Amino acid sequence: MNHVLAQAFIDTVTARLDHYDHTAQHGTITALEQTARSGIPVLTAALRTLLAQHEIDSHGQCDACPRPWWRRRTPCRILHHLHLLPTDPTVLAPATGRHALRPRT
Ligand SMILES: [Zn+2]
Repeated sequence: MNHVLAQAFIDTVTARLDHYDHTAQHGTITALEQTARSGIPVLTAALRTLLAQHEIDSHGQCDACPRPWWRRRTPCRILHHLHLLPTDPTVLAPATGRHALRPRT
């Protein structure tokens, strides 16, 4: 996937997530139900895929996260952030690049 297609994919996913957020905060019961039925399976599948890609060893390290060339594995950054989400979603790093300018809803 080249950078143009990757950006188009990111934009599509971001728009869908914005729609989910908006529906969760302002949607009717019917819209919430429809969004939940279509969106939750997509989100759980995405998280399952992410967790499968960042499978850790007995030391909490994975080989999917960025690492210096001399290291084979490194502590998993994804799991470090994800394990805090259920209690504090603000722990995720703020958006960078052009998404940093997008108003939060
Ligand atoms: Zn990882």
